[in-house]
Parts: sequence; structure tokens; C-alpha cells
Amino acid sequence: MLKFVILTNENMGFLKGSKLYSIFTGKCPVCHNDPMYVNPNGYHLFETLKMHERCSHCNTKYKIEPSFFYGAMYVSYGVGIAFSTAAFVITYLIFGASLLSAFISIIGTMIAFMPIIMRISRNIWINLFMKYDVTKDKLTNYINH
Ligand SMILES: [Zn+2]
Repeated sequence: MLKFVILTNENMGFLKGSKLYSIFTGKCPVCHNDPMYVNPNGYHLFETLKMHERCSHCNTKYKIEPSFFYGAMYVSYGVGIAFSTAAFVITYLIFGASLLSAFISIIGTMIAFMPIIMRISRNIWINLFMKYDVTKDKLTNYINH
């Protein structure tokens, strides 16, 4: 499962420049170069939400204001509904399982995908406030050092 959900530069490159790239890869929303999260694997549960303070490529500060990422909770509600709906459709409508099994699969899905749901919600939230800037993407690293 992990292999399936870890999205890398190589297979997401075609999205570079769109918000979807930052949302699915967890890269800086402004330059799309540097990962926002300290640990690329969100399933290290103590580090799921541990983020760098600034982008090492373009120097963007991720936490624009104190408690900025609390707003991601609103987004995670919607993302959670999307995952739950998918679990329901797959178990109840496609596999014809009982309502109880479908309900259990929704709970299981929510637990199994929680780190992904939390990160995607943060990524969507920050991408509502920042947008890709090609000039910052093309910056060479030494400018910031
Ligand atoms: Zn950046």
C-alpha cells in the first residue's frame, strides 16, 4: 500500500506548475522544488505533520501566521468525506457487501489513510493561500545562502 501512495517527482512531473503537484507531492506551493515535510513518509506517525519552517529553495515561510494550519481541519472534513465515499462505493456498490461491512470499511479506510488525509488537507489549505511562481522555481539555490 505504501508504495502505491508515495508520489514522487518522476511520476508526477507532468503536473509541475499546477496546484495539484504541490498537493499530491507535498512540495513547496510556491516553487514546487522542496518538500514541506521533514519526513517524506507520512506513516512515521510522530512526524506526519512535522514541517520545515521555510522552503530551502525559495525561502517561502509555510506557516504564514500562528496556528495557520488549524484551518486545514476544515479541508480534512471534505477530504475525509471523499475517502469515505470511495470506500462505500467500492465495498457496497461494487462488491455488494452489507451496509455493516461497508460501514466497517469506511472506519478502516479513515484509520489507514489518516496520515495521507492529514497531509493532503494541509497541502490543499496552503495552496489556497499561495500559488506557483515560475521565477522562484528557476531561482538557483545559492541566492538564499
Ligand atoms: Zn519553495
